[in-house]
Amino acid sequence: MSVIEKDKQYIARTYNRFPVEIVSGKGSVVKDADGKEYIDMGSGIGVTAFGIADDEWQQAIIGQIGKVQHMSNLYYTEPCALLAEQLCLRTGMKKVFFSNSGAEANECAIKVARKYAADKYGADRYTVVTLNNSFHGRTLTTLAATGQDHYHELYRPLTPGFESIDAGDIEGLIELSKRVKIAAVMIECVQGEGGVLPISREFACQLGKYCRDNDIILIVDEVQTGNGRSGMLYSYMTYGLEPDVVSTAKGLAGGLPLGATMIGEKAQDVLGFGDHGSTFGGNPVCCAAALSILSRIDDDLLSGVRARSEYMISEFSNAPGIEAVTGLGLLIGLKTVKPAGEIVKSLICDGVLCLTAKDKVRLMPALNIPEDVLKTAVEKIKAACAPTA
Ligand SMILES: *Cc1c(COP(=O)(O)O)cnc(C)c1O
Repeated sequence: MSVIEKDKQYIARTYNRFPVEIVSGKGSVVKDADGKEYIDMGSGIGVTAFGIADDEWQQAIIGQIGKVQHMSNLYYTEPCALLAEQLCLRTGMKKVFFSNSGAEANECAIKVARKYAADKYGADRYTVVTLNNSFHGRTLTTLAATGQDHYHELYRPLTPGFESIDAGDIEGLIELSKRVKIAAVMIECVQGEGGVLPISREFACQLGKYCRDNDIILIVDEVQTGNGRSGMLYSYMTYGLEPDVVSTAKGLAGGLPLGATMIGEKAQDVLGFGDHGSTFGGNPVCCAAALSILSRIDDDLLSGVRARSEYMISEFSNAPGIEAVTGLGLLIGLKTVKPAGEIVKSLICDGVLCLTAKDKVRLMPALNIPEDVLKTAVEKIKAACAPTA
């Protein structure tokens, strides 16, 4: 049996994979089992921040794996402490909880918000408000947080205590507050899975003020938008928001599983001994990888992300077959005349790997994709989007 046949036989059928087996790669180019090369414009859904098998990233991992690959959270390890320090220094947050994924980072954020509100206002202040069309993960609780009904249908009953409003609808939030006691509002600054849709600056500003005035915990989910992807270290910085809790994962460790929940001053003491935990959370190899990644996301790298973003947006704007370009930094959505799924399929034949998000083609190349490689990919994508004569 081939790898594809074995996968089809033995792997739970949750993923409808493309018929491509990736065997190796370097930077922004990956190779399949037949030796065909592809430009990677998806980065494993925004995970491989500095591309595939990056040398500096590998050295950070190899260095740590030869010392200690795991310890339980009963003991101290250096990479975990150093990474938490870096995250706090660069965000102004005060405490970090490490986990293994975006969903877990959000679970922790929700726990912090609920406990903060319960400790201070009583157990009936527990509602977490999220945005319609959001995506916060696949655990039962983060599914409940996800503001898209089609994710809910199969798995009821979901965790109670979630409500959703439309992005931009500050009035809706105020109305809701008359009906339920709100512990937290959780948002993505750019809805990634929801179709690469940025929230408006006005709404961000109104929401920030409303949460501050009412002592509601503002959680920003930076799982997809974080760690340089937006052109700033975190996308909330672009909006001038001051969240109380920030969750991140995906690109944080450049391709190893690591989630982080950063907790600001207001809620920094909410979690005490035994209140939360994770066996693998803060794993020294993953943290060493993330320390290496974070040290490279400096002003130069971020201005490179913004320059590549501007280049892509100007190339795609008004290109034939592209109706709209949305997004922030190197998280870009293309509303195309042809169905996005068809374009992505045809680009696989042309040697470019792209993603979709709802009705959009979604592009998330490595933050350091070389300009000539990016140009080749952009030309092929434009050609694939153009109406066929
Ligand atoms: C991908 C994603 C998640 C879930 O992350 P996992 O690592 O798959 O659990 C949560 N929130 C957002 C915004 C995401 O893009």
